[in-house]
Amino acid sequence: MSEPEIPEARVVREPGGTRLMLVGIVAGAALGLGARELADHSADLAGALANVIEYGTQPVGQIFLRLLFMLAVPVVFAALVVGVGELDLRSLGRVGIKALVLTVVASAVAVLIGLTLVNVVGPGEDRPELRAIAAARAEGKELVAPPDKTAMEQLVAMVPDNPVKAAATGDMIGLMVFALIFGIGLAQVRTPGAARLREAITGLHDVTMHLLAWVIRLAPIGVGALLFTTFATIGKDVLQGIGAYVAVVLGSLGLHLLVTYPLLLVLVARRNPARFFAAIRVPMETAFATSSSSATLPVSLRCAETELRLPRRVARFVLTAGAAMNQNGTALFEGVTVLFLAQVFGVPLDLDQQAVIMTICILGGIGTAGVPGGSLPVIAMILAMFGIPPEGMALIFGVDRLLDMCRTTLNVVGDLVIASCVAVGEPPDEPATA
Ligand code: ASP
Repeated sequence: MSEPEIPEARVVREPGGTRLMLVGIVAGAALGLGARELADHSADLAGALANVIEYGTQPVGQIFLRLLFMLAVPVVFAALVVGVGELDLRSLGRVGIKALVLTVVASAVAVLIGLTLVNVVGPGEDRPELRAIAAARAEGKELVAPPDKTAMEQLVAMVPDNPVKAAATGDMIGLMVFALIFGIGLAQVRTPGAARLREAITGLHDVTMHLLAWVIRLAPIGVGALLFTTFATIGKDVLQGIGAYVAVVLGSLGLHLLVTYPLLLVLVARRNPARFFAAIRVPMETAFATSSSSATLPVSLRCAETELRLPRRVARFVLTAGAAMNQNGTALFEGVTVLFLAQVFGVPLDLDQQAVIMTICILGGIGTAGVPGGSLPVIAMILAMFGIPPEGMALIFGVDRLLDMCRTTLNVVGDLVIASCVAVGEPPDEPATA
């Protein structure tokens, strides 16, 4: 089990505050649930809780989330430009193909697990009462609209016509494509000016990572506030009638996390799964608290270098691409949700149609934005394709945040697993470079 070495000077140890992150998660969730319980019994306390959320936990949680997002754009740009520059074109192609194949395989297994479980358990079968609940909840609410672009238009839009706009609108795939092309160009140009630019972008990366260490120090408070807000605002009846669906989603995510990933780690990455999961605790907890792969990306990049000791040019490339395009948890969730809603509304889907859904979900995992609730427009699109009533979405809104926390964790773990698999056989970093 040989793990790639990186020079000791480059290892920035985990700031002490991160050990408190789990405490923040548990305390935030427990206090949130407790506060909700108390507020349900007294109007005064309900008012006080609303104030605590509005003026306390919500802004604090949002500031933490925004700090992570703020760092994501410079990190994606700098990490990819520097990472690609360190790979020659042949190894870039090799790393890219390995990552793509593993992404498709892992996503396909994830969706298959989800679809099998939802077919076997049938959480929406013979449940006509759920249609009434969906209709009641949908009334007067704005439902999520499907994406306004066709699949071909979405493919074309992956190449940004304006990289600044891509960065400004959170279009991570657009930004990534630009950084990739820019990095290739920068690696090919051998003028003194280009060398200085490379050095400057390396500096940008180093500064962002330094700032990230500060943000991670704030994480216990940030994640505590996010979790408190989530749990204190959960209505009591969100699970009404859909407990079995939630169980199928969580069960499938759990199987993928505890069976597929460890298998990939042992068989392909040749790593000890227990040690691996211990090493990636911080990105897992960040993903869980923020429900956003994009916000977690800077944390994953840092972990890949300092804890997993992956060759940084592989980690930078694979993790950045993966945060936008490898979303196993999302793909699985989209498949299970569409089938569940089809069951609720009595829309029969034969195996061929389910195979189409599986393919769309694998692609959906690639096309879903790594932000909280990023799956919802993709689900709306698949529902429209198969004539499943859109008000079905209203049935899952209440539990979406909880499920999002779990599927995002899986998305982020998947990126780190795949980066570890791709790193096998790749040469270690040159000690002298940034
Ligand atoms: N929140 C997920 C992510 O950022 C996307 C989704 O499934 O909604 O990875």
